[in-house]
Amino acid sequence: TVGCTAADLVTAIRAAAATVAEHRVELIQLDRAIGDGDHGENLDRGFKAVLAALGQSTVDDPSAVLKLVATTLISKVGGAAGPLYGTAFLRASTAVKDRAELTAADVAEALTAALGGVVARGKAEPGDKTMVDALTPAVQAATGESITEVLTAAAEAAQAGADATVPLVARKGRASYLGERSAGHMDPGARSTALLLRAFAEAAAR
Ligand code: ADP
Ligand code: MG
Ligand code: MG
Repeated sequence: TVGCTAADLVTAIRAAAATVAEHRVELIQLDRAIGDGDHGENLDRGFKAVLAALGQSTVDDPSAVLKLVATTLISKVGGAAGPLYGTAFLRASTAVKDRAELTAADVAEALTAALGGVVARGKAEPGDKTMVDALTPAVQAATGESITEVLTAAAEAAQAGADATVPLVARKGRASYLGERSAGHMDPGARSTALLLRAFAEAAAR
């Protein structure tokens, strides 16, 4: 397919929810090392609520799908990640308002807007050991002729960014309380960002 319709996006969100469920324990373990151990639980609960919300609503366009994801994550997921991911999806929704089908350029624009939302809300900079360290390189890499190309490049860059958080000392969020002891572990939010983008890329490729 060329454009991403509301139905395509719902399929991609379902795939992301499945990925989060599969990686729930891994994300819990990453967060246990440098946080409070709830990241996998928080995201899994949130995306299960998203699945329920999608099942109960009719969504007319991609923007409406993204908005439903956003409002559900904001209302159902506590902690840092819920509001941050919620804001990311909300900004993405606004960026593609009134478009029946998203193009590759729209997807790149939505990712840029999502990063803007995370930064506006959380005030983290690259190198602070947060999801921003995955999302920033993802946005920079998000180019291509097709949605699959854009998302595949973004997902690969996000994972490289997540891997690069391992040696960093956290300067934002709960992990920052550990100071130097936060070094030597991958940031859970950076990992979940990479997982979400990979799920979207794989859904687009199908
Ligand atoms: P909490 O830390 O409240 O328990 P989660 O465990 O769900 O929330 O999420 C933790 C993740 O949130 C971190 O791994 C990090 O990626 C992200 N995070 C925390 N604070 C910020 C921030 N200010 N900006 C961007 N991301 C952040
Ligand atoms: Mg946590
Ligand atoms: Mg918590």
